[in-house]
Amino acid sequence: MQFISTRGQVPPVSFSTAVAQGLAPDGGLYLPEQLPDLKPYLAEWSKLSYAELCEVFFAIFATDIEADELKKIVTRSYTKFDHADIAPIVKLDDDRYVLELFHGPTLAFKDFALQLLGNLYESQIARTGNRISVLGATSGDTGAAAIHGLLGKEGVTTFILYPDGRISPLQERQMTCTGADNVFPLAIKGSFDDAQTAMKTVFEDREFAAEVGLSAVNSINLARILAQCVYYLSAYFRLPEDVRDDITFVVPTGNFGNVLAGWLVQRMGLPIKGFRVATNQNDILHRLFESGTYQLDEVAPSVAPSMDIQVASNFERFLYYAEGQDSEKVREIIQTFKETGKYVFENFDRAGFSSSRTDDAQIAAIIKDVYAKYGYVADPHTACGFSDGFEGKEIILSTAHPAKFPDTIQDAIGEDSTHPSLEELKSREIVKYSVEPTPEAIKAFMRARV
Ligand SMILES: *Cc1c(COP(=O)(O)O)cnc(C)c1O
Repeated sequence: MQFISTRGQVPPVSFSTAVAQGLAPDGGLYLPEQLPDLKPYLAEWSKLSYAELCEVFFAIFATDIEADELKKIVTRSYTKFDHADIAPIVKLDDDRYVLELFHGPTLAFKDFALQLLGNLYESQIARTGNRISVLGATSGDTGAAAIHGLLGKEGVTTFILYPDGRISPLQERQMTCTGADNVFPLAIKGSFDDAQTAMKTVFEDREFAAEVGLSAVNSINLARILAQCVYYLSAYFRLPEDVRDDITFVVPTGNFGNVLAGWLVQRMGLPIKGFRVATNQNDILHRLFESGTYQLDEVAPSVAPSMDIQVASNFERFLYYAEGQDSEKVREIIQTFKETGKYVFENFDRAGFSSSRTDDAQIAAIIKDVYAKYGYVADPHTACGFSDGFEGKEIILSTAHPAKFPDTIQDAIGEDSTHPSLEELKSREIVKYSVEPTPEAIKAFMRARV
């Protein structure tokens, strides 16, 4: 299978090229040239384990990877999860289910994609002999998941920028207490935006990029989206038969990455009834689905920090389909949005999405209510999925373990939330590097380590 850019200005590429490049050279995002029809496979797939399901799903897309190699890559990627089901479902009552996506090594859903991406990179390096340097900027979960996905991978050196003192102490420990010698957490003096800006400038230096084999692991990588598709299939198959065709998937999201994966699987023929996009107070997506206007606003830091995003980078993939696969139209919309911070869609089609918005006060109240009603502790991101106005059956995607956000949980229910893997980190040594948030300082640091 070949992969095309949403902006249509580069020729189609193979799976491995799309994964290695991340962003297409025309600035667009990669998508399969044609979405496969999964309907003929569903009956057979419903009996598979999580890793088997992931393998048969990826075999459709990763046609340039040998079957045996793909099996190894996928199998390895789900060995560090602490639950036999990998993505278990918890039934709260007849109408409400939770899909727990936090059983990976860093206790957030990003492990599903980044564990796999790490193994894809390693396999690619073994085939090509070209070493790579991964550079990323994080406000918390992505950096931890990326570091744990790339830990000890042969041929990969990882550099993650984060704002010193502005991420949670546990998130910092997940990045800085690994003991790995191919991982460099760079604590910069400045904000997440400073880190992000410096990182972008480093990527623009083509010569430097070629010199160190620079690669990005941000949420626009096609492999991340495809890896996330698998838990929608798995969840559908594990729900009771009389429930699964009549249930809405509720997805806490900021970048539109998580929910887009489910929507793509629906387009491939999995009969999911519909989706609700659950935002926190940074509600650009909620406003879009309510009004048909996509409009930038200031980011307001919340207690669900991994969703504190205004420009939803994966939205461009949705746009491509919503605009009838018209790349020219996509370019025009993105350009208008870039210049004016706003795009008004005429006759906006919600494409089966509903949406909700949950602010910090509501998140605290929901954590308390859900605990009182079901004895279930929801993390602040998951809590956004339990917003008011609920009708019918819902399965809420739980994107992080509550123990990652102990203060918010303590404030809401008066109890501590802990996890053995986080407790264990508290006695380990922190190794981090202090770097100025300038492209020159970052490049000098990287050159010295590659
Ligand atoms: C990254 C993250 C999200 C948002 O994911 P999207 O890619 O924006 O859909 C939600 N919750 C947690 C805990 C996260 O780490």
